[in-house]
Amino acid sequence: MHSVNGADSYSDNIQLISGEQEFTHGLFPGESLTLSDELPRYMAKVGLDHAGFNYNLIAVFGSQSTGKSTLLNKLFGTKFETMDEAARKQTTKVRGIWMSRGVNSNILIMDVEGTDGRERGDNQDFERKSALFSLATSEVIIVNLWEHQVGLYQGANMGLLKTVFEVNLQLFQKNSTKERSLLIFVIRDHVGTTPLSNLQTLIQADLTKIWSTLSKPAGLENCQIEEYFDFQFTALSHKILMPDKFDAEIAVLQKRFAEKSHKDYVFNPVYHKRIPADGLSVYASGIWTQIMSNKDLDLPTQQELLAQYRCDEISALAVEEFNRIIKVVEANSNAGRVIPDLGNFMTEAREAALKIFDTEASRYHNQVYQRKREDLRNKTDSRLHVLFVAQLSALHKSTITEFQSSIQSKLSSGSYDFANLLSTALLIAETRFIEQANKCNVEGAGWAFDVELDLLKTELEELGTKLRQEEVDRALNRTEKQIRNAIDEPISMVFKKPDLEMWDRVLSLFNDILDIEVERFLNHSKGFNATDEENESSVEELKRKAWLALRAKIDEEVSESNMLLKLRENFEDKFRYDSEGVPRVWKPSDDIDGYYRAARDEALKLIPLFSLFKLRDGSEPDIPIPQTETLSHSKLIQVLSASKQHDLSTRFKKSADALYVEAKRSTISNVSQ
Ligand code: GDP
Ligand code: MG
Repeated sequence: MHSVNGADSYSDNIQLISGEQEFTHGLFPGESLTLSDELPRYMAKVGLDHAGFNYNLIAVFGSQSTGKSTLLNKLFGTKFETMDEAARKQTTKVRGIWMSRGVNSNILIMDVEGTDGRERGDNQDFERKSALFSLATSEVIIVNLWEHQVGLYQGANMGLLKTVFEVNLQLFQKNSTKERSLLIFVIRDHVGTTPLSNLQTLIQADLTKIWSTLSKPAGLENCQIEEYFDFQFTALSHKILMPDKFDAEIAVLQKRFAEKSHKDYVFNPVYHKRIPADGLSVYASGIWTQIMSNKDLDLPTQQELLAQYRCDEISALAVEEFNRIIKVVEANSNAGRVIPDLGNFMTEAREAALKIFDTEASRYHNQVYQRKREDLRNKTDSRLHVLFVAQLSALHKSTITEFQSSIQSKLSSGSYDFANLLSTALLIAETRFIEQANKCNVEGAGWAFDVELDLLKTELEELGTKLRQEEVDRALNRTEKQIRNAIDEPISMVFKKPDLEMWDRVLSLFNDILDIEVERFLNHSKGFNATDEENESSVEELKRKAWLALRAKIDEEVSESNMLLKLRENFEDKFRYDSEGVPRVWKPSDDIDGYYRAARDEALKLIPLFSLFKLRDGSEPDIPIPQTETLSHSKLIQVLSASKQHDLSTRFKKSADALYVEAKRSTISNVSQ
C-alpha cells in the first residue's frame, strides 16, 4: 500500500490526503463511500469519536516553506514534519493533507502541503482541490505569509487567496444561509518597522481587489467578501533571530484558540460546519471523492448523503443492542410461554434502541434523521409485534386452561348453579384476556387484537357448550341410575305374582317413576340455562335410557334360570300343594296324572304371558320415544323369542316330568309301608 516514509515517527498524525491525492489509505475512488477505517481509527485513538459537535477543525494555507508546520507545532503541540527534520532525515517532504489533534484541545488541525511550485499546473490543481476541501470542512483557515510578501498583489499568496475565494463562492452559492469562515492572517518574520495595522490595511486592500476581479455566479454579482469571511490579523517575529519574542507572541496567539472568553476567540459557533465527529470520516471522504471527480460540490446534498449513511450505521448499532435485549424474551416467546410484564419490557427495549439512535443520529440532517428514526421504529415495532402476537396466542392457551380448571374445581366442589358458573367464568376469562392483551401493548403502538379476542370468545363458548353438555350427560346418567334403582324392587315384586295384569302394573309403576324423575331432572336442569329444544332432547334421551333400563330389568327377570324357577314354583304350588297350601302325600287312588297335567298346563301359560309386553286389554304399551337400532318398539314388546319359549317349555317339562316320576314313586313306597 502507500507506505509513508518514517510513518512511525508520525504516530500522532494521519495523512488524510496522500501525495497521490487519495483519501487516506484504501479509499476506493468513485461514488462509493467505501473507505478504509484509518480516519475513524484515528478519531477513536485521539478520543474524539464521540465528541459530536464538540470539536473544531482548522486548516493552514500558505506558500511552501513559510514555516507553516513549524507554526502549527508551536501553537498546538502537534508533530507535523518540518523542512528541518526532512533535511536531517534526507527525505523529501510528503505532499498531501495531514491531520493531527492539538495537544489538550478538541482542535483538529489540517496541514496542507502543496508542491514547491515548479510544476505550476499540477500545483494549482492540488491547491484548488485542497482549498475546496478545507473550506467545506474547516471553521478557521490560517493564511501564513512573510511580511515581505504583503502588498505584492501578484505574489503567490494572492493566487492562493483568489482560489480560496473562488471555490468559496462555488461551494456556498447554493446555500440559502451563507456559511461563514474565519481567515487568520499570520504575518511571519515581522520586523516591526511597519506596524501590524498598516500591514492589515494593505492586505485588506489586496483582498478587496481580488474579490472585485472574481467573476461571480448569477445572482451574487454584488455580494461582499464580508458576507462570507471574517478576518483576523497577527504578526510573529523571526523565529530564529528572535526566538524569545517569537515564543512570547505564540503564547499570546494560543489564547485566541483556547480561551472562549477571549475577545478574539476564533471558534465562533457560526463557523462550525455541523459535521458530527463520528461522521467526519464519511463526510470528508465523500467531499474528496466529489472533488476528485470534478463534480459540483453540493454541500447540502453531501450533508444529506452523510446523514443517510451515518443514520443507517447508527441504526444498525441500535438494532444490535435491541436484538441483544429481546433475545431472551424471543426464546421464551417461541416456547409459547406467557411473558410477564411484556408490554413494559418491549417499550423499554424500543426506547433503548431509539435512545442509542437519537444520541448520535439527532446531530445529522434533521429530515433524514426523522425519516431514519421512523424506519428504525418500524423495524423494532414489527419485531415486537411478533412477540405481541405470540403473547396473545400464549394468553389464549392459558385463558382456556384457566377457564376449564376454574369450572372443574367449582364442579367438584359440589353445589353450584351451572349456568351462573359458566357465565361468570366466561366473563372472567374475557376480561382477563383483554386486560393482559392491553398490558402487553407497546406504548403508543395501540396494536389491535379484535380478531384474537373473537377467536377466544368463540372457543370459550364452544367449550362452555361442551362442558354444559357433559354436565347434562352427568345429570342424565345420575337420573338413569336413580330410575334403575327405583324400578328394581317393585318390578321384581310384580313378576313374583304373574297374572294377566302383570304388564299393566309394570307399565304404570314404570311411568310413575319416570314422571317423577323427569320432573326432578327438569328442575335440576334449570341451572344449565338450556333451551327448550335442549331440554326436550334431554328428556327424550332420559326416557330412552329409562326404557333401556326397564328392558334390562325385564331381561334379568326373564333369564332362563329365573324363568325356569318361576315355572317350577308355579308348577309345584299346584302339583305338590293342595288348595290350602298343604303338601300333598300321594295315595295310589290320587289322580296324579290329572294334577300333573293341570299344574303343568297352568305353569306353561306363564311362558306366553312373560313373552310379550302386552296389557290386559290386549294393547301394546305406548312407548313415547323414537325408534333406534338398540331400542325398537318390537324389541321392547317381544320379551322372549319363539325359540327361547320353546327351549323354556322343553326344559320346564323335563323338570316337571321328574317331579311327576318322583310323585309316582312316592305312592309305591307309601303302599309298601
Ligand atoms: P512549511 O513548508 O511552510 O511547513 O515550512 P516548515 O515549517 O517546514 O519550515 C520551513 C523552513 O522555515 C524550515 O527550515 C524552518 O526552520 C524555517 N522556519 C520556521 N519558522 C521560521 C520563521 O519564523 N522564520 C524563518 N525565517 N524561518 C522559519
Ligand atoms: Mg509543512
